[in-house]
Amino acid sequence: MLRRPSRVVSIGNLSIGGDYPIRVQSMTNTPTRDVAATVSQIRRLHEVHCEIVRMAIPNLEAIDTLRKIKTQLQNDKIPMPLVADVHFSPSIAMACVPYADKIRINPGNFSENSDAFRPLVKSVKKEGKAIRIGINRGSLGKNILEQYGNTAEGMYQSALPLLQIAAEERFENIVLSFKSSDVSKMVEDHRTILLKLNPLGFNFPLHLGITEAGNENYGRIKGAIGIGSLLLNGIGDTIRVSLTEDPVHEISVAYDILQACGRRFTHVEYIACPSCGRTQFDIQDVFNEIKAKTSHLSGIKIAVMGCVVNGIGEMGEADFGYVGAGPGRVNLYRRNQCVKSNILQQNAVAELLELIESCKE
Ligand code: SF4
Repeated sequence: MLRRPSRVVSIGNLSIGGDYPIRVQSMTNTPTRDVAATVSQIRRLHEVHCEIVRMAIPNLEAIDTLRKIKTQLQNDKIPMPLVADVHFSPSIAMACVPYADKIRINPGNFSENSDAFRPLVKSVKKEGKAIRIGINRGSLGKNILEQYGNTAEGMYQSALPLLQIAAEERFENIVLSFKSSDVSKMVEDHRTILLKLNPLGFNFPLHLGITEAGNENYGRIKGAIGIGSLLLNGIGDTIRVSLTEDPVHEISVAYDILQACGRRFTHVEYIACPSCGRTQFDIQDVFNEIKAKTSHLSGIKIAVMGCVVNGIGEMGEADFGYVGAGPGRVNLYRRNQCVKSNILQQNAVAELLELIESCKE
């Protein structure tokens, strides 16, 4: 699958863009001043394989907290790249540079005075850190809003002066984001903006996300559609699935989106039919049992299908197939070949596991 070519950017010990895997990130929601709670949350995010963590730095007092959090993580040998999220003050952004691996700034706060960006670029470049120019539709600068309105053009114009300053300073360790709480606008904005950025050579990695997506099913669906639509078009180098929940919940959703889009494979790919009147066994129980017994594997596709009528064709390119063959009977497949037919259903899961085991290289 084609991927938009992008420059490789270093965030601490991690690389983003180019051919590197699409990175999964999140943001703490503990009060940043609470060092213990924030470190604990970052540790939990690390345990579920979150790769980059961002935290809000709302004031100068939080700089000292950021320093303590960084030190604590280093002492605990948690090599998590930290991103300082700074919205309202160039001076706070400057103060974060020694302690954060990346500074996320909102151009809405620099657009009235883009010259404030140049010293930040110089400092970040000197320290070997990165910047995310994070543009949100909901927080464009006043001048931009007056001239272009709340539009893709406004987002582009918001980023442009900062990108030009960075180019003048020969600074390229930049990630860009163009976020919105509206799924269709977010997708369309990227298409519009990239058509303008690409000819200028601004091929920086892109961070994707839907802001204020909400929670539960609908929050996940919004994130999946917005992020997934772009990933399927080769766009995106790092993602955050924003949920109004414990941020730890965001990570498995992010990996599922990446796998469903064929972008990053971290767990078994399951293909299972919904079952219908032709199904002659309890497919829900069997599917759950197979998932429970194979979820530790990776890099394979397992299909669980109710019947041979449509099941074999629908299995696609599954590596292993469990297909209902009649009352109490099952066929097992290795790719498209039936390797065991009409076996007793009570033995079928165990035989499937044996088959998978015997095919391990
Ligand atoms: S594979 Fe067979 S059992 Fe499953 S939905 Fe299709 S026709 Fe029905």
